[in-house]
Amino acid sequence: MPANPLIFDGHNDTLLKLLQGDSVGGRSFFVRDERGHIDLPRAIEGGLGGGFFAMFVPTKKKDKRSTVNRNLGTESGTKSEDETIVGYDYAQETIARLIESLFMIETTSEGRVKVVRTVDELSATLESGILAAVMHFEGAEMIDTGLKDLSTYYDQGLRSIGITWSRSNQFGHGVPFLFNRSPDTGPGLTAAGNNLVHECNRLGVLIDLSHLNERGFWDVVAITDSPLVATHSAAFNLCPSTRNLTDKQIDAIGESGGIIGINFHVGFIRPDGKGDSNTPIDAIVDHLSYIVDRIGVDCVGLGSDFDGATMPDELGDVTGLPKLVSAIRQAGFDQDDLKKIAHANWLRVLSQTWK
Ligand code: ZN
Repeated sequence: MPANPLIFDGHNDTLLKLLQGDSVGGRSFFVRDERGHIDLPRAIEGGLGGGFFAMFVPTKKKDKRSTVNRNLGTESGTKSEDETIVGYDYAQETIARLIESLFMIETTSEGRVKVVRTVDELSATLESGILAAVMHFEGAEMIDTGLKDLSTYYDQGLRSIGITWSRSNQFGHGVPFLFNRSPDTGPGLTAAGNNLVHECNRLGVLIDLSHLNERGFWDVVAITDSPLVATHSAAFNLCPSTRNLTDKQIDAIGESGGIIGINFHVGFIRPDGKGDSNTPIDAIVDHLSYIVDRIGVDCVGLGSDFDGATMPDELGDVTGLPKLVSAIRQAGFDQDDLKKIAHANWLRVLSQTWK
């Protein structure tokens, strides 16, 4: 059997998990651990070549600082008392720590991990066995509505952004986590959100659709000139979670020549939507096959959600990737298909998105 192609993955939350050391007992990225899903030794063992390293600002209760006027647009004024709103200052502080931790990993790795900013860099790292990290913001709370911050973060290495996480911010409304409900849950992008899409297109920052509600999704579709990307989502028709993509959304991504990174979270792949880890790996393959049948093998990849979600027991952590690859082979995909799914489709989409 031919060797497994290296996997480039659409989404992990490893940086936040490492930063929240208390919840996992302060593990190191460089020491093999049983806790969490990704560290460097396990990534190498699992055949992970790299991926989007998400930087997410957790929701903070009663964030008084969100009342400070930071040019957040009209919404901040009306929602500053909302417990679920993440304030700009808090978001900036948290993101600064996450950025620092990513570059600390790069420095400490002595050449084994690289934060990549171009497709050439990404291809080179994949070829040489260096772990590639794409800097991704999951939610844009740390960016001012005048968008000055966006270029600052771009200069630091930001190459991908989810306009919202599953909550509202100054740019739009994320999709709440609901089951047996349509992802059409409320209003889409704000005027500032539209501007953010234009500016991301201009700079060449990938826009991730995974946490937007359906109207926000279509708002981006109407504006963007890049291929559509959902970095970590699955098929609504197989698991009717608001976080998943309807057939219409899947088709739109296919028509744009974009990509869907299949999410491994059991709650998004099980037909009953339960967070039960006793779920076969084949449930991931079912979503993959379903999406391939609709839009073709050029428009799918993997988007694990490692370190941010509940994995099937059979998969476990990143060392379980070879099991997933063999399940994909068994479903009838050949070596060329596997290369596309593993990393080639991501490279193509990024080459059409990044400047
Ligand atoms: Zn997510």
